[in-house]
Amino acid sequence: MAEESEKRSMHFIRQVIAEDIARGLPPSAVHTRFPPEPNGCLHIGHAKAFCIDFGMALENGGKCNLRFDDTNPDKEETRFVDSIREDIHWMGFDWEDREYYASDYFEKLYELAEELIKAGKAYVCELSSEEFKDYRGVPGAPGKPSPWRDRPVDESLDLFRRMRAGEFDEGRYVLRAKIDMASPNLLMRDPAIYRIKKQQHHRTGASWCVYPMYDFAHCLSDAIEGITHSLCTLEFDVHRALYDWFIDNTSIGESLKYHPRQYEFARLNLTYTMMSKRKLQQLVAEGVVDGWDDPRMPTLSGMRRRGYTPKAIRDFCEVIGVTKFNSLTDIALLEHCLRQDLNRVALRRMAVFDPLEVEIENWDEGYFDSLDAVNNPEDESAGTRKVTFGKRIYIERADFCENPPKKYYRLSPGAEVRLRYAYIIRCKEVVKDGGGNIVKLVCTADLDSRGGTAPDGRKVKGTIHWVDAKHARRAVVRLYENLFTREDMGDLPEGSDFKDFLNPNSLVKKDVLVEPALLEAKPGEPLQFERNAYFTADPDLRGETAVFNRTVTLKDSYAKLA
Ligand code: ATP
Ligand code: MG
Repeated sequence: MAEESEKRSMHFIRQVIAEDIARGLPPSAVHTRFPPEPNGCLHIGHAKAFCIDFGMALENGGKCNLRFDDTNPDKEETRFVDSIREDIHWMGFDWEDREYYASDYFEKLYELAEELIKAGKAYVCELSSEEFKDYRGVPGAPGKPSPWRDRPVDESLDLFRRMRAGEFDEGRYVLRAKIDMASPNLLMRDPAIYRIKKQQHHRTGASWCVYPMYDFAHCLSDAIEGITHSLCTLEFDVHRALYDWFIDNTSIGESLKYHPRQYEFARLNLTYTMMSKRKLQQLVAEGVVDGWDDPRMPTLSGMRRRGYTPKAIRDFCEVIGVTKFNSLTDIALLEHCLRQDLNRVALRRMAVFDPLEVEIENWDEGYFDSLDAVNNPEDESAGTRKVTFGKRIYIERADFCENPPKKYYRLSPGAEVRLRYAYIIRCKEVVKDGGGNIVKLVCTADLDSRGGTAPDGRKVKGTIHWVDAKHARRAVVRLYENLFTREDMGDLPEGSDFKDFLNPNSLVKKDVLVEPALLEAKPGEPLQFERNAYFTADPDLRGETAVFNRTVTLKDSYAKLA
């Protein structure tokens, strides 16, 4: 990733780390973590977060842990753990042997909770969740202390142990930190830190029936792992005081070489894209899309299947920068980064979507020429391949015009055009059916123009793509567009539902003809169907027929704007 370093710009997190280093933190001590909850697949917003987490560690020669934040057994599943691991690796990052789980720390966290009780800093409370909210009050006026706030230490300790032993039903008791019922920050008004949940956990099974709350588990997990910079999204800024309180009020804080510090940055929001895991889950559950890896999903697995490259996504995450302001990023910028990378790496191939037969009058029926075609003009090392040319070929119907306007450089009656990598042809005759529809063109080839250059140096402006009728294969293309028609899917009009904005044209399937080399394309390998769009092979095969997903069109409106 060396070449990527040139594009780096200073942002506030780089600044904070640089200042810490200036104050004496050894660069190699920079230690971050990416903390996904395994309750869904990762999306491009998560990619922004982990590009920052892994990126800051890599830039300084430090470390970044992968920590699964699995404190809520309701929705967490092992298959999501596997998919998260795969996606981060695909993006080019590695956590080495530092794969952790908040559930690894359940015993330690439980001990720290007992410590708080013994120090008179936590108590077992019996308020219902409605009463809890009611007592907590609203900003501006102090809350009301729980009647259980001064429960004797021994009694809280005994109850907490019995909560763990499974003696009580869910909701009967919670353990709360005793902080400040008058704090202007509602989260500091004696937050819950443990609740009873009689749920199987994806890793610890039935061993626990009390589970720590996120706010308690997250900061202490950071402290246990020796995290220096705990980077997260803006909505956690009000949690920061609590984050520090738990670390500073338990013994974990005393042993720390570096106190972990939380820094918050703005989430990524993209136009025409819905980013909430919960809603993406709903799309999958209701069959609106074909799974988490549907190429229309903003998930990394969906984008991979669509043909996105990890480099394009990393470049995008660098270009958007890191700020503290929420904003909506134009998806055209992501597509621009994608085209830049695909242009560099995609293998050029020919495919005809709407075929019009061309018969070469001066060519023998059984004779085929085998021509060299360049695989990638941007990369000589990609080499060449052979394409076969015969008496009958197909061109795009749209590349012929019977009554051409001025400056029309493609094929028209009497005019010449170059067939990519092959010959210059001239249209002699237009053959129509009884209804007046064009069914075939009869052309002559300049047999001395093999490879596409006229021997007498005459100018032929237009070049079009084609496939040989005898050797072309049928394939299916899936043409994708944005899944939603509304720009800002994070801000829906009142009373509406995200399903009101589904794009009916987000997937159009089409049968096409492709050159034989495309049958060897591997899923994920970037391809450019010349003059058409970028594609990649889908892992799905329909019988013998290959399926190609359109990654992105060739036209880059963002580049023009910029
Ligand atoms: P969602 O809001 O999509 O349900 P989440 O925050 O619940 O996501 P987590 O698994 O908890 O999902 O996220 C892991 C990390 O990714 C967190 O640190 C979170 O702040 C970050 N993250 C999630 N969504 C985005 C986003 N859109 N942009 C940047 N970072 C994000
Ligand atoms: Mg979350």
